[in-house]
Amino acid sequence: MTVGIRIPAELPAAAEAYAEAGIKVFRVRRNKTPYANCVRCDRQSSLYVKHRPEDCQCGVPTCHGFWAATTDVTLVRRWWAEEPDANIGAPCKLNGWAVIDIDPRNGGNESYQALEKRVGVLPGTTMQLTGGGGLHMLYRSPDFDLPGLLGPGIDFKHNGYILLAPSVHASGGRYQWAGSGEYMAPTVAWPAALLPRKRRQAPPPRATPRHRFPAQGNRQQRPGGGRMWTVADLVQHVMDSHDGGRNNAFFFAACRAHELAEQNLIDLGEAQMGLLSAASAVGLTDSEARASFDSASTRPSDRGWVA
Ligand SMILES: [Zn+2]
Ligand SMILES: [Zn+2]
Repeated sequence: MTVGIRIPAELPAAAEAYAEAGIKVFRVRRNKTPYANCVRCDRQSSLYVKHRPEDCQCGVPTCHGFWAATTDVTLVRRWWAEEPDANIGAPCKLNGWAVIDIDPRNGGNESYQALEKRVGVLPGTTMQLTGGGGLHMLYRSPDFDLPGLLGPGIDFKHNGYILLAPSVHASGGRYQWAGSGEYMAPTVAWPAALLPRKRRQAPPPRATPRHRFPAQGNRQQRPGGGRMWTVADLVQHVMDSHDGGRNNAFFFAACRAHELAEQNLIDLGEAQMGLLSAASAVGLTDSEARASFDSASTRPSDRGWVA
């Protein structure tokens, strides 16, 4: 049984409590304006020295956004003494977390329901209420990068950061750990059903083979005519593709995305973003994926498959 950590109500004390618990934190201004990099880390500066953020040697503790996050309690105390109302940011991957971020303002609840319908109920884990009506579900990070977008209103936060309680949401509400309000370190692994198929070690929780790539004429696309592809379905289709089939799977999904967007059933930009991040998760290069996505739009119509 994991012991929870009580989080003080004031931001400076809370930031220290996280650092003491071994959670890397950094300051995030209320208006999200990033802290400027030093001249050696600023790409626009003539004194810029080319380096990756993770290899930075400049010694200035605020450079490179979330890469500055630290468990150094002295430094954390100094940061929040300088700016007591700064929100508390925590990088996900650097803390060993992979986070599902559900934003109901953008259709996240519907996407989440569609997701659970498809892969089953997700395992219970550490959850945070975002202060804006949204929800974070924190899982243990897998050892490779996850794509960024699952569907409208649902993000995977992995190679990024989240704000921690009691940070103040843009809407004015405060972030808060669900339940007792204590922080519990996530102990549940990222759900296998949400991994690209080739990364899944264990079989997915449901044994049903997921042949959701129907023979021609098998799937109705029009409203009222049966099940429709959503952006999340298309993303999952790419993530489920095998090594040899991922180009085809991506192209298939890209064609469906263009068709659905033509009928105003999905947002093309949203689909593109999701599919490109899924493509990178299954090992396609960004340029391959973009070229394929674009060519899908100019492809002569073979709408026959929708019957
Ligand atoms: Zn620097
Ligand atoms: Zn640097």
